[in-house]
Amino acid sequence: MVTNNPDLDRVLISQAQIAERVKSIAAQVAKDYDNVDNLYMVGILKGAFIFLADLARELQVSHSVDFMAVSSYGKTATTSGEVRLVLDLREPIIDKHVLIVEDIVDTGHTLNYLLKTLRGRQPKSLKTCVLVRKERDSLDINVDYLGFTIPDVWVVGYGLDYADSYRTLPYIAELNKRVYSK
Ligand code: 5GP
Repeated sequence: MVTNNPDLDRVLISQAQIAERVKSIAAQVAKDYDNVDNLYMVGILKGAFIFLADLARELQVSHSVDFMAVSSYGKTATTSGEVRLVLDLREPIIDKHVLIVEDIVDTGHTLNYLLKTLRGRQPKSLKTCVLVRKERDSLDINVDYLGFTIPDVWVVGYGLDYADSYRTLPYIAELNKRVYSK
C-alpha cells in the first residue's frame, strides 16, 4: 500500500492487519495465562504504549500494567548495542507472572537487557510479546508472542517514532531514507 505522506515509502502493516493480530495475540495470551491470578504486563516506553493499550484492552484475563523505559538509540536510525535503564517498574516482581510488551526487536540488545534485568528479580514466569521483529542477524532471543516479521528497514507508526514524530500513525510504514540521512 502506498501513502500520500512523502516521508513514507510504503505501508508495511495496515491498521486492520494490526487490529486482527492484536486480537489473536490477546486470545493466545489469555489461553496461556488462564489459571493465573494476575498477569503483570510490562510495556517498554515509549514505543510500546499503543500496542500495550490495545493488547491490554483485548485481554480477557486479570492483568495489571506497568512501564519501563530504556534508551538504546539516539535520534539517528543506527544501533549502538548500549542499553540504559531510564525508568524502572513501580513494584517488585518477585513471584509475579511477567510479560514484557515491546514494540520492535532489531538487534535484540534491548530485549536481551530487559530479560536479564527482570530475570534477576525472580519473577514466577517471564515471557516476551513483541509486535514486530526485523528479518536480520540479531541476538538469539526467544519471543513468545510475535505479531509480524518485517524487512530490515526503519519503520514508524503505531507507537514507533523517528525523533519523536510519526508515533500516532495508525499503521506501520517504512520511513524514507532521505528523512533520516539528512
Ligand atoms: P534493538 O535493541 O533490538 O536493536 O532495538 C530495539 C529498539 O530500537 C526498539 O525498542 C526501538 O526503540 C528501536 N528501533 C529499532 N528499530 C526500529 C525501527 O525500525 N523503528 C523505530 N521507530 N524504532 C526502532
